[in-house]
Amino acid sequence: MSTETLQIVPAAVEVHDVHKWYGSHRVLDGVDLTVRAGEVTVILGPSGSGKSTLLRVVNHLEKPEIGYVSVNGELIGVRKQGDHLKELSERAILAQRSNIGFVFQNFNLFPHLTVLENVAAAPVATGKLDRDEAHKLARELLDRVGLADKETAYPRQLSGGQQQRVAIARALALRPGVILFDEPTSALDPELVGEVLAVIKDLAKSGTTLVIVTHEIGFAREIADRVVFIDGGKIVEQGPPSEVLDKPRHERTRDFLSKVL
Ligand code: ADP
Ligand code: MG
Repeated sequence: MSTETLQIVPAAVEVHDVHKWYGSHRVLDGVDLTVRAGEVTVILGPSGSGKSTLLRVVNHLEKPEIGYVSVNGELIGVRKQGDHLKELSERAILAQRSNIGFVFQNFNLFPHLTVLENVAAAPVATGKLDRDEAHKLARELLDRVGLADKETAYPRQLSGGQQQRVAIARALALRPGVILFDEPTSALDPELVGEVLAVIKDLAKSGTTLVIVTHEIGFAREIADRVVFIDGGKIVEQGPPSEVLDKPRHERTRDFLSKVL
């Protein structure tokens, strides 16, 4: 056996038995998920099924009541009673989060900063780069998302599709190990969806680890290594697109797909 076949690809994100509830409402009910480095994972599921909460737990915007999340081998969000795993300090959590890019449905750009400043802000604020280095990187990233000519514009002067491409450049600026997308095209007019999907596709091809919540099934089929269908806070089924999208095993998956396709 060659060493290549023995090589183990490390998990970029590991979600282990995560439970999250608000009052008596169980929003995540024992979720296990492994995302391997370089993989594209697409998460599908009806509205209210817990998709955003799952991404927010991974990014430590929410703490699970039970379970843990590890990103690039470091544990965050440990909450299991009697467990020997220790919680990370606030500082360690911030370091973790700088390794995770997050792209929101509504872009969330800083309105008072130019496009260039939006992309350069985080590497400067975290001390990773000085201002000149950060601006140089920001220009490269804006070029990559097709917005080299917009660096002096303010977010309000851009279309939704352009703003989302800036948000993707901003997420890339910290050179994160994984980028999480929460319905990145669902706030866009239909004619602007394609330009954003094209940028995400380019990232997928370059081997960036991506976790994408989306209802764009055709896009999922094209780029996903794995599709995860979640309903009622549980993973109902997961696998390659050729299985989950084309031959779903569960009635709930079939029902969902018949509504969005
Ligand atoms: P999805 O992204 O799949 O639409 P969410 O993760 O946003 O679902 O929400 C799952 C459920 O959790 C929904 O019923 C939502 O109302 C509830 N929920 C989300 N955040 C909160 C919160 N901060 N407080 C109370 N309920 C919440
Ligand atoms: Mg959501």
